[in-house]
Amino acid sequence: MSSHDETGEQEKAVTEMREICYCGHPGEAEDREPIGDSGGERPLRSPSCGHLDYTLWLPEDVRTLALDEAERRTIRRKASTTA
Ligand SMILES: [Zn+2]
Repeated sequence: MSSHDETGEQEKAVTEMREICYCGHPGEAEDREPIGDSGGERPLRSPSCGHLDYTLWLPEDVRTLALDEAERRTIRRKASTTA
């Protein structure tokens, strides 16, 4: 009986990685800069406010991938600005 006509309403899958820092910095977690260890942890630093996100909300395997990707992006970013 309940037949809604859902037109143009497309639900996008939310990327798990996507997070917005409390400072309002939008973007993916991987776009932040991984900071070399503080006791084995590799927190990601927000480029806007410097807030360290330990990404403990991620499952460990996903977290490892995210950190690796963040590292790769940081390296690529530095390589492209150094010319
Ligand atoms: Zn921030």
